[in-house]
Amino acid sequence: MRVDVLGVAFDNVTLDEAVERALALMEEDGPHLAATPNPEIVQRAGKDPEFAAVLAGAGLVIPDGIGVIYAAKILGRPLKERVPGIDFASALMERMAGMGKRLFLLGAAPGVAEQAKGNLEAAHPGLVVCGVHDGYFQEDGPVAELIRESRADVVFVCLGAPKQEKWIAKNGGAAGARLYVGLGGSLDVFAGKVERAPERFQKLGLEWLYRLAKEPSRIGRMVKLPLFLVSAAGARVRGK
Ligand code: UDP
Repeated sequence: MRVDVLGVAFDNVTLDEAVERALALMEEDGPHLAATPNPEIVQRAGKDPEFAAVLAGAGLVIPDGIGVIYAAKILGRPLKERVPGIDFASALMERMAGMGKRLFLLGAAPGVAEQAKGNLEAAHPGLVVCGVHDGYFQEDGPVAELIRESRADVVFVCLGAPKQEKWIAKNGGAAGARLYVGLGGSLDVFAGKVERAPERFQKLGLEWLYRLAKEPSRIGRMVKLPLFLVSAAGARVRGK
């Protein structure tokens, strides 16, 4: 059952359940989209009907970001837990490594995906990263063809939202993989270019605060979070 949070329908799943769902999608003919919206992305979808339609057609929509969890609670339909996209991706790769499934990494600046490939193959012995491509290309066709030739089962598409989800909707069929996961800036993290918050911040649901302290210029993005919760309260009051 999906839970509507301000116009985006989220799967009410734990991390483990999300991974099981993704593995099940990999058994069916694709292309399937797994999306990892945070509050900023939910707000974006509210203003972009094409993006909202792509999310509505996704095979899996997991709540990335504590703000989505708070909003769901305010709306009176709580979600089980926050499922950070990066944790979901790591758990999925661990399972793929044991199954011989093939992963393609698409996105980020030139060189980043190669570096991520090296780190991920070291972290998940047995994982096959069958190809990489940076996220700064002009034409979709050759990139889709490269993915098709790599015979990838899964593609991590890291172009930022909503570009990545729209790219998947348009090119997922031609690229031939079964599952496409939109993962924003994750390749920068996997490549070691961007640090995640220490675990104690993550556990407290304060990853956003850590990121803000490291990059105060994010404040413009962050002030949207309380507004997001106010929108949720407004929707609750109006009985939506
Ligand atoms: N990016 C890309 N191609 C583009 C625009 C962005 O590959 O045309 C990459 C960018 O280098 C970064 C990621 O997409 O690695 C976006 O990261 P961000 O944290 O902004 O995404 P979010 O997780 O907020 O969606």
